[in-house]
Amino acid sequence: MKDAAQAGRPRPPLLLNNIGTLLTLQGGRDPRRGRELGNLNVIANAAVLCRDGKIATAGPEREVLKHAKELGADPEIESFDCKRGTVMPGFVDSHTHPVFAAPRLLDFEKRIQGASYQQIAETGGGIRSSVESVRSASEVDLAQGVLAAFRHMQSSGTTTAEAKSGYGLTTEAELKSLRAIRQAAGEWPGTVVSTLLGAHVVPPEFAEKPHEYVKLVCEQMIPRVASDKLADFVDVFCERGAFTLPQTELIFDAAREHGLGVRAHVCQFSPQELSRLKRFSPASFDHLDCLSDQDLKSLAQQDTVATLLPGASYFLAHSYPPARRLIEAGAAVALATDYNPGTSPTTSMPMILSMACTQMKMTPAESISAATINGAHALRLGGSKGSIEAGKDADLALFAVSDYRELCYWFGGNSCSAVVLNGILMKN
Ligand SMILES: [Zn+2]
Repeated sequence: MKDAAQAGRPRPPLLLNNIGTLLTLQGGRDPRRGRELGNLNVIANAAVLCRDGKIATAGPEREVLKHAKELGADPEIESFDCKRGTVMPGFVDSHTHPVFAAPRLLDFEKRIQGASYQQIAETGGGIRSSVESVRSASEVDLAQGVLAAFRHMQSSGTTTAEAKSGYGLTTEAELKSLRAIRQAAGEWPGTVVSTLLGAHVVPPEFAEKPHEYVKLVCEQMIPRVASDKLADFVDVFCERGAFTLPQTELIFDAAREHGLGVRAHVCQFSPQELSRLKRFSPASFDHLDCLSDQDLKSLAQQDTVATLLPGASYFLAHSYPPARRLIEAGAAVALATDYNPGTSPTTSMPMILSMACTQMKMTPAESISAATINGAHALRLGGSKGSIEAGKDADLALFAVSDYRELCYWFGGNSCSAVVLNGILMKN
């Protein structure tokens, strides 16, 4: 993870004034669950003062201006007029796959003509079709694509992004993908969390001996990634046609042995017995479209965040995850884009919020919490990201709307007019 605020030279304090509606999401150290998910902590007529990349004060404008004066540095303070718009924590997009070389347009057309995701995968399309181009791409070219993705994310309000490898599927190509993420992260003022997804799918050359590929992930990829400090997490696509639960356990064991956190793609197309993975305390279980009642109840008792990815349901035209049941059971629900070339080619968190509201019946307030504070917890960054409170990183998004519900209401456009990333103001 990179913190740009620590890397740059000192900047003057930044004052965001004339905020019509401020959503602080202040309160509590834990992810939001149940009714709490809808609590945004809304303040009208507000301001936010940022200093040294952190939030110094946030609240009613009069109080914040008083604090700014006390700093005794008025002429040096950089002021930004928010023109009565809505300011909230920048989105934390906790699940993305930005390291790829080309869109998958053939798969897209085939699916429109009736082929299923599995049928496309079985005939050499799907994840495997992205592998060849990533293996042959240069690290510099991959890094450029990742940086372009981060900038797109930023343009619609994202200030922290998780980024996975997973289209290389050799030790060298996975390391190259993670180095591309690191290079792009070094050029972007936002915050990036890297994840090794060497276990995305079994590559064709291991089709007859998947256990050997799992061994390669455990004995080569994970140790190299850990020693080069290229990732914070290890992820597994635990699914029919990808990796089994026992294989996932082996990979998680290796990750733990090397001090890396774990997360997993689970229950996207078929249910899995998630209780078997509980002992690893995964940071998140992602997708959960086919979750059993038993696992749903068990998730409500865990710290593991339930990360829902409606973009993939939309793009594949299949059922959406059971958001209402998860929220009502008390699970910690997050929302992310799942940005990837095969099943969710979008970087727009506002579009994901729209889907969460219209297709999964989350309220606008619930979807905003899920996309900010709970996304931060899914990356184990709940102490520094996801809400606007003194001492946390200055990651903010400004939208040219007077009511926060408009974020979820207008779809397909972009009302984000500026972001602050680790204290750095970037206008759209
Ligand atoms: Zn994914």
